[in-house]
Amino acid sequence: MPSAFDDLIAANREFADSFELAGFDGVARAGVAMVTCMDSRIDPLRMIGLQAGDAKILRNPGGRVTDQVLVALVLGVNLLNVERVLVVEHTRCAMAGADEAELRAKVAAASGEDASWMTFGVITDQRADILDEVSKVRHHPLLGDRVSVGGFLYDVDTGLLDQVC
Ligand SMILES: [Zn+2]
Repeated sequence: MPSAFDDLIAANREFADSFELAGFDGVARAGVAMVTCMDSRIDPLRMIGLQAGDAKILRNPGGRVTDQVLVALVLGVNLLNVERVLVVEHTRCAMAGADEAELRAKVAAASGEDASWMTFGVITDQRADILDEVSKVRHHPLLGDRVSVGGFLYDVDTGLLDQVC
């Protein structure tokens, strides 16, 4: 029976034919974690010269340090070899390009449903937000001085990272 995933499962069979990650443990081999946006223009590993096995990649709309991201970082830093954390937001991010009402209106129009109850958490000032997100990591009691944290803005048109803090 055909499914919506057939092409992906076929690609997975090819992937498994030359699978090279068997026997890896789950640590971040390069000691890196990156918090970044879900945007499909972002290739988190390649942008910093890493590959599978090297880093913990934590993604969500905007690249925010949410409570769940903090849980992941506490595990990564304390148990999985993470020594450096990059918080990476990006230019032309949908989370920074509209206000809350505009985003609700777009989702409502696309879904045909009421979206007025939903909070998307848009970013009004990306550079200020990057400072805030980094601060959450730096001031967490189980992270803080155990890890180097940097905040960056990634340019989706040039591929360059601009360090903000
Ligand atoms: Zn984004």
